[in-house]
Amino acid sequence: MKNAVRLIFVSWLLALGSSLSAQTNLRLSEPLMLPVLKGQYNPSQFYSGQPNSSKAAIKQNLLTQTSSDSLLQYLFGLNQFKNRNSGSDTLAVSNGIGAARNWALAQFNKMKQYNPAFITGFFQFDKMICNMNTHKNVLGILPGTDTSQKGFILIEAHYDSRCESSCDTACEARGMEDNGSGVALVLELARVLSKHTFQRTLVFMLTTAEEQGLDGANAFAVYAKTNALPIRAVLNNDVIGGIICGKTASPPGCPGENEIDSLQVRIFSSGANYSMPKGLARYTKLSFEEELLAEMSVKTNIQIMNAEDRIGRGGDHIPFRQQGYAAIRFTSANEHGDANATAPGYLDRQHSTRDVLGKDLNGDGIFDSLFVSTSYLKRNVQINGITTAMLAIGPQDPPEFELINDGNGLSVKLTNPQAKYAYRIGFRGRGNTFDTIFTLQNQADLKTYHVKKDSFYFVSVATMDAAGTESLFSMEKYVKVAGVPATGVLEKDAISNKMQLLPVSPNPIDETLTLSVYMPNPKPGFTGRLIITDLQGRIVKSLTIALDKTINEVVFEHGFSTKGLYFCSLFVAEEKMDMQRLWFK
Ligand SMILES: [Zn+2]
Repeated sequence: MKNAVRLIFVSWLLALGSSLSAQTNLRLSEPLMLPVLKGQYNPSQFYSGQPNSSKAAIKQNLLTQTSSDSLLQYLFGLNQFKNRNSGSDTLAVSNGIGAARNWALAQFNKMKQYNPAFITGFFQFDKMICNMNTHKNVLGILPGTDTSQKGFILIEAHYDSRCESSCDTACEARGMEDNGSGVALVLELARVLSKHTFQRTLVFMLTTAEEQGLDGANAFAVYAKTNALPIRAVLNNDVIGGIICGKTASPPGCPGENEIDSLQVRIFSSGANYSMPKGLARYTKLSFEEELLAEMSVKTNIQIMNAEDRIGRGGDHIPFRQQGYAAIRFTSANEHGDANATAPGYLDRQHSTRDVLGKDLNGDGIFDSLFVSTSYLKRNVQINGITTAMLAIGPQDPPEFELINDGNGLSVKLTNPQAKYAYRIGFRGRGNTFDTIFTLQNQADLKTYHVKKDSFYFVSVATMDAAGTESLFSMEKYVKVAGVPATGVLEKDAISNKMQLLPVSPNPIDETLTLSVYMPNPKPGFTGRLIITDLQGRIVKSLTIALDKTINEVVFEHGFSTKGLYFCSLFVAEEKMDMQRLWFK
């Protein structure tokens, strides 16, 4: 299993490496697109003064108009093309990637009936991939009504598919879980949201050549950076509709073959404390839990994962993060296989001819049971939808703030707060989610006494408008509260002139852990080592960590099987500076 994982990692890295060099001739097929993406257009070109949709109206539509039947029709639509390999036929009308992308463009064109402002077309690039030189992402763009609101929201999924061999264009590569499910989600979300108008622009994109090295996403991310396109957030959906575990899929997300989980979805994103991707992941979870969850008949739990992707795997959010954008990946809790399809005895569906829509049990040509759960997929459309909507209608970013531990409590002081807004203050301790959020109505300094002795807090701020919609949260600031809160009064801040390991809580559903070191006086080029040992004192892992920032992080890939008590020690040169316990339940 370990070797298999490593093999995929190496081959994926090679694929990624080759992809980063070479897409050329990046271009949009529709001249209107670039000015809209840049935010340099006159909204009256598209809209004649109609009001922006209210949050209530958007929520209502997400809840009532998102449709399992519609998702199923999109999956049937994709299924007919038999093979969507990036090197497959581009001329045939009934099979191959050319037919598939023309079909996808036709689906986007249908959105114009709901909203004449909707712009459709291709983003093209050249690179020899599987003997094919020109490749196309499919785009649907809903221009925003207010160009002073900078940044568009990009919702993406790759539409190409593959069999065991990455350039096999003759096999049946229906790619229903990977990634017909993501395509159906993007199309359904475009269908539901295009009935509205938003301040900020929405971009729906179906990418190609993900399977050969994230080429379609990388080409667009490079194009975005080159043209200074303001992307507020990237939501990538890949393997998002299956609920059944394969034999090789990783536990405990997949506790065993044929286990089913339709109640959880994972978000992968890079970094931790100072990372905008993790901030976007938290914003997604918060938006869904505050705005939509209570009104849903089946509850979904969003799991924020530590790592940027499953160990050794990658996806289309990564090229965007590499270009400096906040990007996250949604993936179902259970996957049917680990994609190592050439391993002996691999019988799971992912990256094989078996990734089909379902089973025809009685031979009548109709699927009797589906491998992609359209009800699960529908909930994931709604999660993407509420996040997209909040990002598109939310107010401007928060002002700068100062964090003061003055001995009476923890205060947040905003620079130039505006009277028309409230502000939300998010406190986070050891975990990936907020511990507490306070809403600051009158811009008075926030005092809180709900802080624990000797605790570390990460604090961030969001602007909130009168409808209760918040902006993205700021980057986090860090504070250590040293005092005793028993009487509600804190001791003077005792932070620290001392470098230290921040406490962490391993999460049983995660295979990685982000270890962080606080440096009071960071120095360029300074490094240390983290040594992880078991109860017997044996070294389990030794990691180099750069210590050139105030908070420094390194990802520890422990895998799912690690259990019990471990110790993580920080060494600089030969000197042990600090130690933390790691308790794997
Ligand atoms: Zn995929």
